[in-house]
Amino acid sequence: MTTTTPQARAPMSGKAIARSQFDRAADLINLEAYMRSILTAPFREVQVELPVRMDDGRIEVFTGYRIQHNGARGPCKGGIRYHPEADKDEVLGLATIMTWKTALMDIPFGGAKGGIQVDPRKLSKLELERLTRRFTQRISIVLGPYRDIPAPDVNTNAQVMAWILDEYSSRQGYTPAVVTGKPVALGGSLGREEATGRGVMYVMSEYARDYGIPLKGGRVVIQGFGNVGSHLARLLDAEEGAKVIAVSDVDGGIVNEKGLDLPGLLKHVSERRPVGEWKGGKAITNEELWTIPCDWLVPAALGGVITKEANARTIDCKVVVEGANEPTTPTADAILEERGIAVIPDFLANAGGVTVSYYEWAQNLQQYRWTHEQVNRELKATITKAYAAVRDLSKQKKATFRTAAYAIALQRVADAERLRGN
Ligand code: NAD
Repeated sequence: MTTTTPQARAPMSGKAIARSQFDRAADLINLEAYMRSILTAPFREVQVELPVRMDDGRIEVFTGYRIQHNGARGPCKGGIRYHPEADKDEVLGLATIMTWKTALMDIPFGGAKGGIQVDPRKLSKLELERLTRRFTQRISIVLGPYRDIPAPDVNTNAQVMAWILDEYSSRQGYTPAVVTGKPVALGGSLGREEATGRGVMYVMSEYARDYGIPLKGGRVVIQGFGNVGSHLARLLDAEEGAKVIAVSDVDGGIVNEKGLDLPGLLKHVSERRPVGEWKGGKAITNEELWTIPCDWLVPAALGGVITKEANARTIDCKVVVEGANEPTTPTADAILEERGIAVIPDFLANAGGVTVSYYEWAQNLQQYRWTHEQVNRELKATITKAYAAVRDLSKQKKATFRTAAYAIALQRVADAERLRGN
């Protein structure tokens, strides 16, 4: 878990971003107006007040959300983030993306997301545990292995999932399948922690082959060096021979044109030190990261970071790979399209996490453990199948990858809604 502070982000809300991109795809498949209403409105929104006893004896009150966007294809699924800017709009936008992501991967889940408005850097570990347990108590009525299954997201990790599991199980009996991204010792899946980064790498590798932008020796820049960014950097370096030349975290970044020594950088970061303080490259600001010429640019931090105002006209890369959720605003997306820069959308690129979460859930229900190799093999098969469907539709309809991915997902969710009688 890496802690983050509020950053300057796009003025457009997550909800508005999701809506404008939704309409383009809905037009492509001639989706009826009533179905658009069903697919845009959330199924259930829960907002809770969270009084928490702080270490100094005071009680502080936080606000938390769990929003279930759609459950037509299965139980709702989606992460929980702890962030000062987590609000209802952002959580709804992210819950909506989860519906499309699970549908595109064709795994039997719907979409949900949760969030607590908090800066976790200001909390001790015990305060964080009390906050997580209080949140679990307040939302447990809408959770369950066949109802809604949380997972980690920004500023939450396997430990936070373990607290949720313990709190839920203390009332309902041992229920490992209520949450994914757990520690392996508590029923987590091998390969879950690196799954999102690994999935991003698989998608990049397919795209590299199909569109002739070699990954081996290819220059990669990554914004964010948390769960997604750090595993992606490590895997691209070790398994694809890509040249990761710059990465950043909330405090700044580092660049080395010869390629970063990833094992060295990972060791530095594991000692809880910022990437910018590492001696294996030149320190840069977060703004400078966007100006570095590269083949692949991977935002893997927060949403709304590629904008018309900040960087869409100046980014110098061949492909933007959305490791983060909603990193590109629709206006910026249009500018990148105009400039001939391809964008691999979030709910294709970063779907490895939820895909392995599905395997974790299935292993918990079967009380059976897969090997790490089996997890990776299945992940590769699932995500590359989704990738191929997007690539084919994108070619057939001359649509962007984002619109094609949306169209496939919308069609699947609409079909499920119709079969249920809507
Ligand atoms: P994390 O908390 O582990 O890491 C976030 C990283 O971003 C940290 O290195 C942090 O310092 C950095 N960061 C924050 N603000 C920044 C800024 N302004 N500039 C540069 N770096 C900044 O979070 P994560 O789990 O890696 O998630 C990252 C993104 O990926 C989020 O958008 C999340 O929704 C998405 N995502 C995560 C998963 C998953 O399995 N963890 C799955 C799908 C999508």
